[in-house]
Amino acid sequence: MNLYTEEEKRIFNFLRQQNCCLRCCFRFVGCRTIDYFQDPVKFARSTGYIEAEHVNEVPCTACLGILQDRTQEQVVEKIYAKVEKQNYDSETFICALTIPVCISLREHFLHINCATQLNLSKDTLVSLKAKLQNIKDVWKWITIPKIEKAIKKQVDSATPSPFIIEIILRYAYNEKECDILLNAYKKTNNTENKGKRKCNDNRFSRTSIETLIAKITDEEFLQCFKAVISETIDTIYVENIMCTHSSIFIGGRYNKLSRELSQTPWFINGEKKMQTSVQDILCNPITEAVKAQSIKFLSSGREDVDVRNINSGRPFAVELINPQKTKITEKLLSDLVNEINRSSRQVQITSNLKVLSKIDLKTLKEGENVKTKFYRALCICRNVSRDMIPLEVLNNLKRVKIIQKTPIRVLHRRPLSPRERLIYEIRARWAKPQELKEFDITNENADAFFVLDIKTQAGTYVKEFVHGDFGRTKPSLCDILNAEIDIVALDVTGINLNWP
Ligand SMILES: [Zn+2]
Repeated sequence: MNLYTEEEKRIFNFLRQQNCCLRCCFRFVGCRTIDYFQDPVKFARSTGYIEAEHVNEVPCTACLGILQDRTQEQVVEKIYAKVEKQNYDSETFICALTIPVCISLREHFLHINCATQLNLSKDTLVSLKAKLQNIKDVWKWITIPKIEKAIKKQVDSATPSPFIIEIILRYAYNEKECDILLNAYKKTNNTENKGKRKCNDNRFSRTSIETLIAKITDEEFLQCFKAVISETIDTIYVENIMCTHSSIFIGGRYNKLSRELSQTPWFINGEKKMQTSVQDILCNPITEAVKAQSIKFLSSGREDVDVRNINSGRPFAVELINPQKTKITEKLLSDLVNEINRSSRQVQITSNLKVLSKIDLKTLKEGENVKTKFYRALCICRNVSRDMIPLEVLNNLKRVKIIQKTPIRVLHRRPLSPRERLIYEIRARWAKPQELKEFDITNENADAFFVLDIKTQAGTYVKEFVHGDFGRTKPSLCDILNAEIDIVALDVTGINLNWP
């Protein structure tokens, strides 16, 4: 049964004398057998490494308890409590373990201390370092089966699982031990300033510690740490367990039927300026249903507060950040559509809701640039009679190229260089009396009202195309009709994007 050499046995015993736990002893002699780590007492006995006596474990010099049963149990218990409380429905998980960097330091110390005390050759030391079994791997071999059992979920590192359990382990004297190394480095290299800057950048990262270790001789290192390491009395503790599920995305199309509703919640000095918003109406029920921590509302463009969106609706998606409920059924989605449509008259979902893939999201993003849009606008020519306006001219226009400077109304938000847009088609006709009634317009002043349907390239400022924005859009309808024209109301009537 004993597969190890006499030398390895000496090393094993030496490490035991240094208060290393059995699992760490197996790690240092290069054991790769998972069984040994799962039941170290049994295998340490059967290999003859230890006598059949009772094994009393003190905090381990090498792993500070990370691989010892007591800490293991604590970690599993805390994970269980957290996952139970938060109720994530994912059937799989992955673990991310963070351990203090002083573990590397201690491993290095034990290697050189062992080589010195046991008179190992340089080659033996090199191969001993090479075969050290990684502490995190061993931790996963022995802890993950216990976590799986406790939380009744399967580990899945291959896909990997979207549900991550992060375990942060801390050691009270970690910084102190790193500082000792830093000071030793400064002393021997006599480069107070240079050294300081170098180390402060990323002072206690694993890489910086390993770089420092490489710059100090084994003798110096042993000298610095001899006293410190044998003083080990404390064990590691669990600083935090964090559960996160990666985002899921749900999308569809909506109509906005109100001329008094903003796209996103509107706050001034922390005070909500409007009761609700498109975002609130669409996203709050979805957020609630999947128990997400927060959201990001993504829509393909947006309407101004006073602009409606009718007909087939505008594509939107919501990123649900850290959702607990991720098994989304068709039933849940259709229930959500009903709930949202019942809750508000201002916003209506006009499609099915859908759980979105990465490709869907790309479509939404790219759609911003390629899509064409359709608008209907009610326009007014003040103090002129209909026969003064050659409205039929508009119906013959095709692919009108316009140049738009950033509109005055958005100048404070995003001043951009002038941009070129295409108006693909225009249809215009005089407004019918009932179309004016909707806006409480009684045509006493003999103004001329007309209805404009236009098909444009995405990103066109339609209001500015109508009134000209003090000459900032060229040509505008005013230029084309040679009259003073303004816009009364605007609707988005179509957004050409295959969605969702
Ligand atoms: Zn250990």
